[in-house]
Amino acid sequence: MTLAQEIRNRLHTVALKIADNFCYRCYKVVEGDYCPTCRSDDFMRHLESVGVEYGTDWVIRHLLTTRLETVDGEEMFEELLDECYPEVKIGCCTFSPSQIMKELDPICFDMGVQENLESLAAGGQLFEYCGNYYRLEDVEDLIEELEAD
Ligand SMILES: [Zn+2]
Repeated sequence: MTLAQEIRNRLHTVALKIADNFCYRCYKVVEGDYCPTCRSDDFMRHLESVGVEYGTDWVIRHLLTTRLETVDGEEMFEELLDECYPEVKIGCCTFSPSQIMKELDPICFDMGVQENLESLAAGGQLFEYCGNYYRLEDVEDLIEELEAD
């Protein structure tokens, strides 16, 4: 199992813990593994003042978007370019590599931003969920906090 999969599994477990079981047939929050009224175990997830849905993806998405900040992929890629390549001086003007690529080839720049995010996620520094990228450390801290609650 990769680190990202392990994080996903832990998020799933935490989401089950923080969300209530909700019986759709009886339309109420229930305790335990079976609905005491209809005996169903086909529960939806209920989050107070957020909503009711099947599955845990939406609970996880809610947790991550409300509790954590996404990383700034553009800024990270700009820093990478400016560390790797020298500034360019033309006459009295000085241009940074990130500025040059962004101005002259914005499509290439955007692809670079995305590739950099993906490679940092593959390297275990970032965690991707629904197209958003978070610092893995932040996600782990949040999981630990919720597991301890
Ligand atoms: Zn029921």
